[in-house]
Amino acid sequence: MTASKKIVLLGHFGVGKTSLVRRFVEDTFSDNYKVTIGVHILKKEVKLPENQINLIIWDIEGSEDITRTRSSYLLGSHGFIYVFDTTRKSTYENLAADLEHIRSNYNDVPVLVVGNKSDLVTRAHLRENKQHFSLAQYFSSAKTGENVETLFEDLTKKLIE
Ligand code: GDP
Ligand code: MG
Repeated sequence: MTASKKIVLLGHFGVGKTSLVRRFVEDTFSDNYKVTIGVHILKKEVKLPENQINLIIWDIEGSEDITRTRSSYLLGSHGFIYVFDTTRKSTYENLAADLEHIRSNYNDVPVLVVGNKSDLVTRAHLRENKQHFSLAQYFSSAKTGENVETLFEDLTKKLIE
């Protein structure tokens, strides 16, 4: 039997949530995605060595204020991917507080933290922002594909533990 698991991508507008999902599900990238309005739900089968999981991926519209994300989108989620944009400080300066908010409201639900657009940042920039960036488990690029499959697969593994 194939289990279904719902995951939701969180993070500000324009950080690359839709792009990451498109890269993962369709292996494509576009420089001009339209702003997501409401929610797009996509499905992808993930085959792990001993399991097959149907990932139900909720690509919701971004929000500058996580506490105002519609709770109906988050209901029943088995995992979260919190995406920030490594090139835009406003998307990661409140990262710690945002994570605290998610963890206190969704106790046992795993959260992966992803710094996206790694293709655009220098090592110096990563060093300068060490304090914020150390909260990220992955740096990804929806453009080059760096780490995209890995991060979705690692979250999927956590969902079945
Ligand atoms: P969302 O609002 O979080 O869903 O962000 P989108 O996926 O719509 O992406 C916003 C913009 O950033 C688009 O113009 C994308 O082409 C661009 N973008 C997304 N991910 C990357 C990335 O990894 N690298 C680069 N260079 N651009 C990206
Ligand atoms: Mg979007």
